[in-house]
Amino acid sequence: MIHEILPVGILQCNCSIFGDEASREAIVIDPGDDVEEIVNILNRNGLTVKAIVITHAHIDHVAGAAKLRGLTQAPVYMNERDISLLNMLKAQAAWLNVPPPEQTTVDVPASEGQILKLGPVDFEILDTPGHTEGSISVWIPAENKLIAGDTLFRESIGRTDLPGGNSRKILASIRSKLFALPDDVLVIPGHGDTTTIGHEKQRNPFLRGL
Ligand SMILES: [Zn+2]
Repeated sequence: MIHEILPVGILQCNCSIFGDEASREAIVIDPGDDVEEIVNILNRNGLTVKAIVITHAHIDHVAGAAKLRGLTQAPVYMNERDISLLNMLKAQAAWLNVPPPEQTTVDVPASEGQILKLGPVDFEILDTPGHTEGSISVWIPAENKLIAGDTLFRESIGRTDLPGGNSRKILASIRSKLFALPDDVLVIPGHGDTTTIGHEKQRNPFLRGL
C-alpha cells in the first residue's frame, strides 16, 4: 500500500494519500489545501482517486475537497452531523482571516462501521465525536494504522471549545473506540507527529486514568 502524508495549508493539516499498487486506485483523507501538491503525488504514483474522506468539517481539513472533487470526480464522504459546520465555512475562513474556499458537496454520509475498500484493504469508519459532532476516524486493520483527525494527537487531544465541541464526548470516543485498538497501531493525527495507541495510553497527559 502506498501511503504519503502531506501537511497542507497554513495549519499544516496532515493529508493522507493511500494508493493500491495493483488497481492504482487511491483514497485521499483530509485534502485541507494545497490540492496541486496532492495531485502531483497522485500523478507521480499513477493513482486515480476513488474516494475523498473528510474527518471533520473544520476548514483546515475540508477546504481543498471541492477542488479535488472537481478534478477527480471522486465522491466526498463526511459525517452528516458536521454539515452545519460545513455550512459555516465562510465564518471559519473569517476566524482565520483567509479567503473562503468553495464549499464541497457531500456525496456519501460517512457513519460508524462503514467500510471503504481500496484493493483488498478495508478502511473502516469509526464515529469519534467530541472535537466536532461529526468527527470520524479511519481504522485500517491490514495496515495497522489509524487516521485520527483532530480527535487524538501525540500527547494531546483535539480542542473542544469550538462550535460542536464536547470534552466529555471526546474522552468517551478515545476510550471506547481508539483505546480499544491494539497498542502497536500507528496513529496519524490531524496535525503533527505520528504516535501509537500504546504511547498515548502511557504518556498522554489529557488521558491519565482513562
Ligand atoms: Zn479540527
